[in-house]
Amino acid sequence: MSLIVQKFGGSSVADAESIKRVAKRIVETRKAGNDVVVAVSAMGDTTDELIDLAHEVTPMPDPREMDMLLTTGERISMALLAMAIKSMGVDARSYTGSQAGMITDARHGSARIVDVTPTRLREALDEGAIVIVAGFQGFNRDTKDITTLGRGGSDTTAVALAAALGADVCEIYTDVDGIFTADPRVVPRAHKIDRVTSEEMLELAAAGAKVLYIRAVEYARRHGVTLHVRSSFNNNEGTWVVDSYDTDGGVAVEEPIITGVAGDLNEAKITVVGVPDVPGKAAEIFTVVASTGANIDMIVQNVSAASTGLTDISFTLPKVEGEKVLTALRAGQESAGFQSLQYDDQIGKLAVVGAGMRTSAGVSAQLFRALSDAGINIEMISTSEIRISVVTRADMLNEAMRVVHTAFGLDGETEAVVHGGTGR
Ligand code: ADP
Ligand code: ASP
Ligand code: MG
Repeated sequence: MSLIVQKFGGSSVADAESIKRVAKRIVETRKAGNDVVVAVSAMGDTTDELIDLAHEVTPMPDPREMDMLLTTGERISMALLAMAIKSMGVDARSYTGSQAGMITDARHGSARIVDVTPTRLREALDEGAIVIVAGFQGFNRDTKDITTLGRGGSDTTAVALAAALGADVCEIYTDVDGIFTADPRVVPRAHKIDRVTSEEMLELAAAGAKVLYIRAVEYARRHGVTLHVRSSFNNNEGTWVVDSYDTDGGVAVEEPIITGVAGDLNEAKITVVGVPDVPGKAAEIFTVVASTGANIDMIVQNVSAASTGLTDISFTLPKVEGEKVLTALRAGQESAGFQSLQYDDQIGKLAVVGAGMRTSAGVSAQLFRALSDAGINIEMISTSEIRISVVTRADMLNEAMRVVHTAFGLDGETEAVVHGGTGR
């Protein structure tokens, strides 16, 4: 008997009909002789709607209460799903994150899982029940408060359950057939990939491919959880996240030079203008930035013009952290001695990712050529071993993704199908 963890995203449980469809699928898996544990997200756009509602009440909702509010979304879907399964004559029980033993740190809104104690889940499985767990939520032992794992966090719930229970596979069900060469909503010619390495998936997720949440990919890699991303709308084989291409069934598969393209419109750029070009200034500025806890990404320092002895430093960060970083930098301006700050939230970030890039020359040239042929200006560049990222104007990003996808020969024969969801 296998133990299978299945995660259903919001787009797969958007209404009563979808919940019944998903319930049927879960029951089929059970009837095929497997133990089944399900992690479920809030229905459709519920989480977004709850966030909007909170902001109608106050511009700065209290983080503890925000988590209390948002976790209700998953409580609704888990109970409805368990009801639907029971009505089909199969035993099912739903559990909140804390009942399921999802222990996290105390960081509201972005808590990390520190332990999983699934005693009750095991008991239910032993009694032959299907276990349904509310995704995206946990419990902190010190504060005794409910926490959430960050947007998209139900993926992490599923992976953590799979690791703790020693599941054979963790299936992530969503509204597309698997992981594509680009977001099919933006690049209609994107095609599904059969396999992707966890290393590449981490880069794609970090670059904005929200089909898998980055922390879930990290967790799966660390705990050796096998991930299969597939559609809840059909039975097609999805995408397997593998350790490396050459461990794939023992057959050496050549690494693709470019596996995929990702884009992100949620970042902004801060430029610190007129920084004295002396040792220690970058350290001083980024110590101030770090004190805010903001997650910064690309950093570019211009070559200083010798005559002025000044330099500009630009970096990107999530838009939602822009205000607090600007405030902290303004407070440190006098001591750091820079001239001014510029804030630009109209940027788009594009990344091309591929494990084969390591051993292949000319990828940057090909990327820059494709963008220049389309008249798209590049504002910043950064690279890792298997990724090249560039910053463009926000309104050019989608077009940039399409031309780059074509330039690297990734276009499929037919247009990709998105089965559900609003893409919100
Ligand atoms: P769920 O509700 O199942 O969690 P998400 O909206 O979080 O679904 O993730 C699925 C969506 O991710 C797809 O509908 C697609 O628009 C988007 N997406 C972005 N990049 C990719 C990619 N490389 N492959 C597949 N989907 C992607
Ligand atoms: N409902 C949460 C969100 O929308 C968690 C998830 O769907 O993974 O972010
Ligand atoms: Mg998701």
